[in-house]
Amino acid sequence: MKKELMEILACPVCKGELELKIEAEDAEEIITGELICHKCNETYPIEEAIPNLLPPSMRT
Ligand SMILES: [Zn+2]
Repeated sequence: MKKELMEILACPVCKGELELKIEAEDAEEIITGELICHKCNETYPIEEAIPNLLPPSMRT
């Protein structure tokens, strides 16, 4: 995902701000990392440049 996406992304549960933790990135995109909501104490993984913003209860 592109870093600019952070400006529009919000926690799917509380609509709060997300903190970005980058594990791997290239010139354009974040490849792997995490989006963290401190309000919900929840993390959403970014894998293969795609953020998984499903609430934890809906993940398979
Ligand atoms: Zn939240």
